[in-house]
Amino acid sequence: MNLIETDVIICGAGISGLLMAKSLTNIGIKVACIEKYKRQKDNTIETDLRSTALLDPAISFFREIGVWEKFERFAQPLNSLVICNLDPKTEEINSSCEFFAEELGINVLGYNLPNKVIIEELQKLMKSSRNFFYLEGDYVEHITPRSFDVVIKTKGKKQITSKLIIAADGRHSNVRELLNIKKFKYDYNQQAFVFNIKHKINHDSKSYEIYKSEGPCTLVPLNTSKFNGHFSSVVLMLKDTKKNDKNFLNKKNLSHFITKRTGYILGECTVTSEIRSFPIITQASSSLISERLILLAETAHVLPPIGAQGLNTSIHDIKNLFYLIEKKLKNNEEIGDNVFLKEYDNSRKLKITSRMLSVHILNKMAMSKNPTISNIRKYGLSFLNGNKISKKNVMKFGMFQ
Ligand SMILES: Cc1cc2nc3c(=O)[nH]c(=O)nc-3n(C[C@H](O)[C@H](O)[C@H](O)COP(=O)(O)OP(=O)(O)OC[C@H]3O[C@@H](n4cnc5c(N)ncnc54)[C@H](O)[C@@H]3O)c2cc1C
Repeated sequence: MNLIETDVIICGAGISGLLMAKSLTNIGIKVACIEKYKRQKDNTIETDLRSTALLDPAISFFREIGVWEKFERFAQPLNSLVICNLDPKTEEINSSCEFFAEELGINVLGYNLPNKVIIEELQKLMKSSRNFFYLEGDYVEHITPRSFDVVIKTKGKKQITSKLIIAADGRHSNVRELLNIKKFKYDYNQQAFVFNIKHKINHDSKSYEIYKSEGPCTLVPLNTSKFNGHFSSVVLMLKDTKKNDKNFLNKKNLSHFITKRTGYILGECTVTSEIRSFPIITQASSSLISERLILLAETAHVLPPIGAQGLNTSIHDIKNLFYLIEKKLKNNEEIGDNVFLKEYDNSRKLKITSRMLSVHILNKMAMSKNPTISNIRKYGLSFLNGNKISKKNVMKFGMFQ
């Protein structure tokens, strides 16, 4: 069995694992990244048709680690977010509040990028890095922490040592399972239907979140410079029972449904892509750390897709971990020991918990059919419209400021 020596092992080459790897290789850290599924060659990974709204702090981090220029031409700026409430009886928009980037003194709230583009460009960048060792189609079977390092053995009989393991292998993490770290999971009995639409009215770089019981419907503008017309990506959250309803998998019926469900805000809509569905859960790992190991991103926390909080929260994990490692290197201190792990835990635990709780409460309120809650949604938006300070505070929280 060959022994490979590195500084950090990252399990999982999703967006989070690759961003983490890029930031670390930039400062001379040797990274081994293990990805379970092979991409492209044998198509074992299904293409992710989703797009991600990356908020301003995430874009700053992309710039900081020198990757933003790769994405700029694919990115759709998000100038404002309009939150609306639909009247349960008339199905017309009865209240709305628009959050403008200028209110926070920034030019844009963020950018929307297709997940496929993010992964492909990051992979290309990483594969040309000298400090990066990529192991595809393999996964960790044994983890043995020692006093000064940790050794892993993979299914493909590779043996790797490092100072630290970063588990970024997603919501079904096998690293978390291997170490018997418990998880808390809350299932909303909700599905997110994801697809793209072409619409009659220009989106004007606005994103919409339209609330009605069963869950919100989010429209995020797409970069359409290459196409004729106006396009947005949709995340439509509905009860689980709709999962097998053929109406929601039929493009013609769904086009009709979504035109009405969005209160005609973008005029007539036509579904232009495949339709995918994702179960909606909140999931939290019972711990963010274990011996010589950190659980990162969706391995540690899964949030309902509201307000673009999921990956944006993960980028804060990555940023914090990157700064901590950079600081330790500068001070000639250990990475991966107990002091290091505790420092990371202290920097993230409370922040992740409060974000998860807020998104959970928001989703429960969005789902509720209770007329009082519907009124709270309606009058809450009117209140924010008329109260600059509260509006700014809500924006600051949503934007991680
Ligand atoms: C419908 C929807 C819309 C969303 N929209 C937004 C948005 O607009 N903004 C936002 O911030 N967030 C959004 N999110 C959340 C965001 O998509 C996720 O946070 C993000 O994709 C998760 O990335 P990740 O790298 O943490 O995990 P993953 O993408 O799951 O990556 C994990 C990687 O690990 C690999 N892997 C799995 N098992 C193993 C193993 N045993 N060993 C090695 N590798 C393994 C997987 O193949 C994968 O490559 C949305 C989520 C959903 C469901």
